[in-house]
Amino acid sequence: MSARTAPPRVLTIAGSDSGGGAGIQADLKTMLALGTHGMSVLTAITAQNSVGVQGVWDLPSEAVVAQFRAVVDDIGVDAVKTGMLSSPALVETVAGLLRPLAEAGVPIVVDPVAVSKHGDALLAPEAVETVRTRLIPLATVLTPNLDEAAALTGQKYAEEADLRPAAEAVHALGPAWVLVKGGHLPGDAVDLLYDGHTEHRFRAPRLDNRHTHGTGCTLASAIAAGLASGQDPVAAVGAAKTYVTEALARGFALGAGIGPVDHAW
Ligand code: PLP
Repeated sequence: MSARTAPPRVLTIAGSDSGGGAGIQADLKTMLALGTHGMSVLTAITAQNSVGVQGVWDLPSEAVVAQFRAVVDDIGVDAVKTGMLSSPALVETVAGLLRPLAEAGVPIVVDPVAVSKHGDALLAPEAVETVRTRLIPLATVLTPNLDEAAALTGQKYAEEADLRPAAEAVHALGPAWVLVKGGHLPGDAVDLLYDGHTEHRFRAPRLDNRHTHGTGCTLASAIAAGLASGQDPVAAVGAAKTYVTEALARGFALGAGIGPVDHAW
């Protein structure tokens, strides 16, 4: 029997969630569920569960570089997703590694993770400027929620009518596409995808489920899996929105706090 053809290769550069709900763990589950081969460069380790983040340990830049080189120089990547980058030094390191890939046309999905749903910081405040100037211009698709869009642009965004101005302001920072997520607003969960010319709105009914841990990581990884599989950004975001809506509908209670979205169905 001959070996089967390898699936598309997707790399996540992100933090570990020991509780298995978000971060690298959510990324790899999403990549598997969507028929791709997931690989990981760990940036930080969190001690984390359903009630919060109890500790964060950043990995040294040289460990990030070594993981990246190991994967890229042998296996190769069809798309990259970045998540928790923690410190200015790690953002700088990752941006330096990604620039040649971006120049070679490898799609890069940047999830500008700043704060967890529990309110724990996952990015040092002094790293926001590095994210803005070094990482975001490399993004094929940038996936801020409305709060992250506000933090990146210094504006105030609080309602659905703000999605378009937020998308325009964030797009000016240099990503090819920006997906501004309005999921925590009242009413339908509406996200707006924008490339500087055309907007696409993705709408899903609000689900009555508090077990939402890992939604952002799952969405960004699903977009990366779609891009790695040859979808264009509009198709990849549409499919990813459908996937995360289903994963959220199946989110389940675990521990005493906010449980994870589900990837196994
Ligand atoms: N922990 C890690 C390591 C993450 O990367 C993220 C999000 O990207 C989170 C926690 C936060 O997940 P959530 O906001 O869905 O709780």
